[in-house]
Amino acid sequence: MKAAVLYGPRDLRVVEVDKPTPGHGEVLVRIRACGICTLEQRLFLGNQKIFYPIIAGHEASGVVEEVDGHVLADLKPGDRVALDLLNRCGECYFCRIGSDNLCENRFKPGLNLMGGFGEYVAIPSSQVFKIADSLSYEEAALAEPVATCVHSLRAARISLEETLLVIGAGVMGLLHLFLAQLLGVQTLICDIDERRLQQAKDLGADLVINPERESLVNAVKEATEGRGADVVVLSTPAKSAFEASLSVVRPGGRILLFSKGDRPFEASIVPDKLHSKEISLIGVQGRTQRDFQGAVSLLNRGRLDLRPLISAVVPLERINEGMQLALDRSTYRVVVHMED
Ligand SMILES: [Zn+2]
Ligand SMILES: [Zn+2]
Repeated sequence: MKAAVLYGPRDLRVVEVDKPTPGHGEVLVRIRACGICTLEQRLFLGNQKIFYPIIAGHEASGVVEEVDGHVLADLKPGDRVALDLLNRCGECYFCRIGSDNLCENRFKPGLNLMGGFGEYVAIPSSQVFKIADSLSYEEAALAEPVATCVHSLRAARISLEETLLVIGAGVMGLLHLFLAQLLGVQTLICDIDERRLQQAKDLGADLVINPERESLVNAVKEATEGRGADVVVLSTPAKSAFEASLSVVRPGGRILLFSKGDRPFEASIVPDKLHSKEISLIGVQGRTQRDFQGAVSLLNRGRLDLRPLISAVVPLERINEGMQLALDRSTYRVVVHMED
């Protein structure tokens, strides 16, 4: 089969590799679409390393080709599915307590790891989710990023009457907007890119704020009767955004550290401020099986329209072109499509 193999930083080639065979309890899936997420961009640039060579791609969808006889799930050849391509071992402490997003073995060599940029993957049936006929493969591939935002808002314990401020209006920021809209939460979006702000406004943000043009603190206070945002999501790795979050969150509010930083920074905070204002700083990372199931259920019910977030679809042969498009700040998600 064909696969795009990353041999090292900026060395991504479409080559012939062995087609996997499903093992005990596994399902063989023919991939139809796979998103190029920031993880793949970091691996491509060499900013994050798992191991080389690697077939990346963790936001994928496809068609069931073969099902091992030991699979208990209702899956059969021809079923259209979304895939959770990050390994969950099911055996470590974190998997056992339901925090499988923190699985100790998720990046362990030799275990199931991504593979969405290949024509086939063989994965445990627990990581295969059936999708509705109404959903395109490109949209279904984005079940994974939706799941991470489900995870984020679950950790925020956000209520209907609250106000959410999202800093960073990229794909993840807009997915937070979509989910907050389902809850009826007032959503404010902050970014320094006017085009992204316009898109957020067109997609229904209650207020968009460019902190280079107006005071973020004043704008948020005005929208919240002077209190500040109940929940702030940091969907950008910028230090300035982290510092600003502490000024715009209300007493008793929650700040979610959603974005992974390419260049980790140090920032000083005054612990007494967190204490006296009861501010929670919450790290959120990845998604659990429950979050993934939640995202697929929302998509299957037609509650989210992800089409505005898909900027381009490229065939596997042109994945390098797709990578360049994905790295361009003017695009949202670029999806690799496998031909019939
Ligand atoms: Zn992703
Ligand atoms: Zn585990």
